[in-house]
Amino acid sequence: MACIQSLFVFAVVWFSNTAPGESRASSQRWSCPEKSALDYRPPEVIATDAVGDGRFDSVLIVTDCTENLKGDLAFLKDAVNSYVEVDSAAASVPVLIVTDVVPSGRLIWSPTGPLYRDYDDVRRFADAATAGLARAVQAGSKKPLLIRPQGGPFNMSTMVTTLAALEYLYMPLELREAGENAKVEYLGVWYEELEKGMKELNQALNVETGRTVARDIAGTDPERMAPPSIEAYVREVFRDSGVEMAVISDVDTLTREYPLLAAVNRAANSVARHRARLIYLEYTGSGEINETLFLVGKGITFDTGGASIKTGTRMVGMSRDKSGAAAVAGFMKVISLEKPTHLRVVAAMPLVRNSVGEESYTVDEVITSRAGVRVRVSNTDAEGRMVMADVLCRMKEMALNAVNPHLMAIATLTGHAVSTAGTSYSIILDNGPAKEKKAAERVQAAGELYGDPFDISTIRREDYDNHRGRSMYEHINQMGDNHVRGHQGPAAFLIMASGLDKHGKNSSQPLAYSHLDIAGSARVAPKQVPSGVPVVALSGLYLLDQN
Ligand SMILES: [Zn+2]
Repeated sequence: MACIQSLFVFAVVWFSNTAPGESRASSQRWSCPEKSALDYRPPEVIATDAVGDGRFDSVLIVTDCTENLKGDLAFLKDAVNSYVEVDSAAASVPVLIVTDVVPSGRLIWSPTGPLYRDYDDVRRFADAATAGLARAVQAGSKKPLLIRPQGGPFNMSTMVTTLAALEYLYMPLELREAGENAKVEYLGVWYEELEKGMKELNQALNVETGRTVARDIAGTDPERMAPPSIEAYVREVFRDSGVEMAVISDVDTLTREYPLLAAVNRAANSVARHRARLIYLEYTGSGEINETLFLVGKGITFDTGGASIKTGTRMVGMSRDKSGAAAVAGFMKVISLEKPTHLRVVAAMPLVRNSVGEESYTVDEVITSRAGVRVRVSNTDAEGRMVMADVLCRMKEMALNAVNPHLMAIATLTGHAVSTAGTSYSIILDNGPAKEKKAAERVQAAGELYGDPFDISTIRREDYDNHRGRSMYEHINQMGDNHVRGHQGPAAFLIMASGLDKHGKNSSQPLAYSHLDIAGSARVAPKQVPSGVPVVALSGLYLLDQN
């Protein structure tokens, strides 16, 4: 296909009996797009049921033991076993086996290591896929074929392996815009039963498309991805997708309807290319709606800390403070591709730069939120909760008339989340009505299945008490004076500032709210590619098969 020569990668899947240079309209997943550096689709992927398919220049096996090489894969077993006998490293690291059992002569064995200990989870497969594919690329392979024999205790291990391979192949937007070549020309994925495999592969590609959108927005530098340029990117991503998009950019409207957000935007508003945008995305399934999700993603495109400025090296990585909004856009992209019939989803991306300057909002200001709650500012670096509270309030207003509503905030909110759960785990906290639905447990279970893990935390009475006003002047305090429950407190703040505290489990209209802090798991260190969490876990829970 002409597409193969394209500088820019995109996904086309066709069956194994389609030779290169031909296309079969009946089995193409995506049609050949116009060339665009913005192209957010995953690399080209070819599904095959033939291990000896001559289109590939290496074969990569990701599994836990050679016993899984059976059936159509049995002929590979001797080659791997003879190598493993003479190189004990093959039990723990990927190795390249030179053999004539595959056409390219390159067989890469990438072991998962042990899978049955208390602390093993499905990410062993992801790690082995990433390491194995890196080894293939290091060997010069440009057309690797990925083989994931069934084995081990994890139901979704093959999907997780494919997702990890796709993640490894991601090229940042800046590099695509600079015309840099992809890591491989295409990736092959082997299936014993092609037709059954295609469903899984299409789902993996849909999820990866969403994660690519999330990584592009989160990872790209604060000038390339300032609020107006994110708007332009998101517009392109959702063009003709079935997702409706509305944008508020007028500063008077923001000040009137989203006063806490507008306060954070004050300093940035004097620079046109940094001015705030509030993007709403909405998807409605074609069938009878049985659940409505309201998602708010924190989109601080750069966080200087504001007047409470971040000192020393604490500002490094703060262009990633938009990872929540990025994840919301990414999840909406997966939704637009999977098209669930029973879901309605309203997503909001408050995109604000927390700049510092003569217009900066300051400590001691008392600002009345959309919900009529007087908020005393006590640290301008706690801006994430400020930009989300009024948007969450708007979502609350819509949720009161929605079918089975569930509100969620997704944010790189607190350093405390990092020190609590580390850099690989998102944290989720439920309010009373969400807890009654076991929302956090369900998200955690989906995350565990698909390798996007969560720790569950709890909002306690101290978290509310800490944020109550200390004087007649204010109802609530932005930070409180006790920071030992640093990731739980902001959940209570958001509930109070948005008026969700009037919709607890003992109210006449309870509203379920889950609070997701992804400060640790989003990968905010600039040397890392953003993880795109929790796109996989939410897709697993709401969109994908889980059997
Ligand atoms: Zn901050």
